[in-house]
Amino acid sequence: MPAKRRQATPAAKEPVGKQRKLAPTEEEKKTKAGGWLEEEVKQQRTQNKEMGFITKRLRFISDTEEMRQGSEGVLYWMLRDHRVQDNWALIHARRLALEEKVPLHVCVCLHVPKSQLSTLRHYSFLLKGLEEVAAECKALGIQFHLLRGPAGDLLPGFVSEQQLGAVVTDFSPLREPLTWLEDVKKKLPKDVPLIQVDAHNIVPCWVASPKLEYAARTIRGKITKQLPEFLTDFPLVEKHPHAATRTAKPVDWRELLSSLGVDRTVGETEWAMLESFIDVRLKRFDSQRNDPNAAALSQLSPWIRFGHVSAQRVALQVQRGGRKLGVGVSSFIEELVVRRELTDNFCFYNEKYDSVEVPRPPGAYEWARKTLKDHAKDKRPYIYTREQLEKAETHDKLWNAAQFQVVREGKMHGFLRMYWAKKILEWTPSPEEALASALYLNDRYELDGQDPNGFVGCMWSICGIHDQGWAERPVFGKIRYMNYKGCLRKFDVAAFERKY
Ligand SMILES: Cc1cc2nc3c(=O)[nH]c(=O)nc-3n(C[C@H](O)[C@H](O)[C@H](O)COP(=O)(O)OP(=O)(O)OC[C@H]3O[C@@H](n4cnc5c(N)ncnc54)[C@H](O)[C@@H]3O)c2cc1C
Repeated sequence: MPAKRRQATPAAKEPVGKQRKLAPTEEEKKTKAGGWLEEEVKQQRTQNKEMGFITKRLRFISDTEEMRQGSEGVLYWMLRDHRVQDNWALIHARRLALEEKVPLHVCVCLHVPKSQLSTLRHYSFLLKGLEEVAAECKALGIQFHLLRGPAGDLLPGFVSEQQLGAVVTDFSPLREPLTWLEDVKKKLPKDVPLIQVDAHNIVPCWVASPKLEYAARTIRGKITKQLPEFLTDFPLVEKHPHAATRTAKPVDWRELLSSLGVDRTVGETEWAMLESFIDVRLKRFDSQRNDPNAAALSQLSPWIRFGHVSAQRVALQVQRGGRKLGVGVSSFIEELVVRRELTDNFCFYNEKYDSVEVPRPPGAYEWARKTLKDHAKDKRPYIYTREQLEKAETHDKLWNAAQFQVVREGKMHGFLRMYWAKKILEWTPSPEEALASALYLNDRYELDGQDPNGFVGCMWSICGIHDQGWAERPVFGKIRYMNYKGCLRKFDVAAFERKY
């Protein structure tokens, strides 16, 4: 069907994500009886019940480090890692509560910014995860509170009112969460410590490296050297023995979702699982991960992005699964650990993580800045507006198909993301506009968007971040180039175009 006749736009009345499912395939359903992983993980956690907490996973944000005495409980302010088990921030908050023999509380400050990036797709996924968190907390005697508004406005008052003695939170290197953290720090009672635990990275971001890293090759050794220490099992979070006298208000999740001011034209999606990855797709990962027609990837990025699943858990299980199947897992660990943790490093040590004004660790990336400037006035073969891109109205069927994929399914294949972003550089008037449009489309439609991986993915494709210079050519300068012919050599492009 000609691209122009197909609708991929947010103008569609029905939520577009509903149209296709990425649920397990027939092959995945047949492979093994589902549910084995849950049982295996439960056993591992139980065996590791007494496992200690590595204090390098935390840092104090407040001046005070001592928990306030005589308090009514400890609070875990859940910011990025929306899960109960396999969560080092919650594990640490629980340890503090056990030491002081006080109740444990979890709170989420739900704030929906007025933005085209606040979509039903993202918030329904978040709320489904939170509903599970709330139910698990209830079963474990932990109070789950949902506060509606920015953390800086609500959390300090909540801590005072509930007479809580310490606040533990998790770690995100992105601008808004860092601002919320600063706000909370300023307004929190001075005798209540604010403790941040990196529950997202296996090697905590500040331990992996104290500085902005130049590329995967400069951080790889630093991370892998520390994996034996940090890539451990998790202790089971058991029922909390100290009951709270003040209990949390129950949440009506349906009502909550329908009351949120989100853009409902970008609809919900459905997704596959870690278990089916280990059973079926892992054996193909190494050889077929660059083929968008093959089911070879884990599909886990949305769960990791929203913290519903711990990357450390994924790494552990995939290593174990790989050993059982006799399958190499190093290429997967490279993506999941090295590449992913490099993106937190990039955003944490570089405030301009979404700008063409790339950072300046001594001399680094100067080549990219210069080459983009040198070629800023080159004639572009095609020029498309953001709207044309959003509607997949380009001359390139493969690009349009990739754009349709993300609009409908909420996730574009990893290989195509590179091609997709590089073409935006080629077809827009300036690198600044290309980056802004790529980030807008990525963060609005990718369910895993608004994440350091997305900022770095777009920066890598358009600004050469973490890459090297290549043969110079128009528009791109020395930024790595990708073209349609190259895709034809890699996979059955026509089959992919037919599918979307
Ligand atoms: C232009 C562009 C935009 C991107 N936008 C995002 C985004 O918004 N969110 C996002 O999570 N990823 C993004 N990526 C990285 C990558 O494409 C996705 O993480 C991957 O396709 C997700 O699919 P998967 O979970 O099946 O990955 P798998 O290949 O199965 O990998 C497993 C996990 O490793 C991590 N990972 C894989 N590839 C990378 C990578 N290149 N860099 C960092 N981590 C990686 C992810 O957490 C992923 O879930 C982007 C890449 C590019 C080039």
